[in-house]
Amino acid sequence: MKLTIGWLYPKQMSTYGDRGNVLTIFKRCEWRNIKVDVLEIDLKERIDPKSIDFYFFGGGQDVAQVEVSNDLHKYKKEALFEAVKLKATIFSICGGYQLLGKYYKTFESSEIPGLGLLDAFTVAGDKRMIGNIMIEANSSIPEKNIVGFENHSGKTYLGKNAVALGRVVIGNGNNGEDRTEGAMQDNVIGCYLHGPVLAKNPKFADYLIEKALSRKNKDFKLKKLDDSLEKATHETAIERSHNP
Ligand code: GLN
Repeated sequence: MKLTIGWLYPKQMSTYGDRGNVLTIFKRCEWRNIKVDVLEIDLKERIDPKSIDFYFFGGGQDVAQVEVSNDLHKYKKEALFEAVKLKATIFSICGGYQLLGKYYKTFESSEIPGLGLLDAFTVAGDKRMIGNIMIEANSSIPEKNIVGFENHSGKTYLGKNAVALGRVVIGNGNNGEDRTEGAMQDNVIGCYLHGPVLAKNPKFADYLIEKALSRKNKDFKLKKLDDSLEKATHETAIERSHNP
């Protein structure tokens, strides 16, 4: 068994420990003797959608998002649409999440085009939504509560083809208004959860690994790990999220 990760724009898009998600997936696979290849996908590089099971796309500042949006449309758009057809899993955070939606309208009213893999759009707000966040996850996800750290001014609104990753219990989530957080559509997932979120939420990490590996083997199930340390981390992070 082997998992190939395509890490999109590691230099431009990896804020607040987002790269820790790649490390988490790597270690949780290695502990189960699943081989992992991590391909860093930079500006101007093309993607072979047949060879990648899991894409990670982290957060970044508005300036980086402009450069990355141009590059996505020029070099990667078709391949990423093909990847979704081939049932690859795409996991994105904050700036990456916004660019998988239809567009991100900045505070200066310029529109940064997204790929539209998620039925969502984002508009910059005048308030920064920052702090610990805890959600009650969509029932398809085995982690009941997912905890992370958010820092964004973009307000994201979902269209009817996307469902929320969860309901906000503590924090702001997609827009600070409708209590939704994140989006899911096909195997594409976006959220505002930095952290790194997967290190603090091991069941969510395994859910994503299993999803990505089931592309090659439909009924694939991961072996259980001794997660006592990870569970303690998860509980502590939840406790802290109550005290901003
Ligand atoms: N530019 C975005 C916002 O503030 C993304 C921020 C981020 O990725 N941390 O809404």
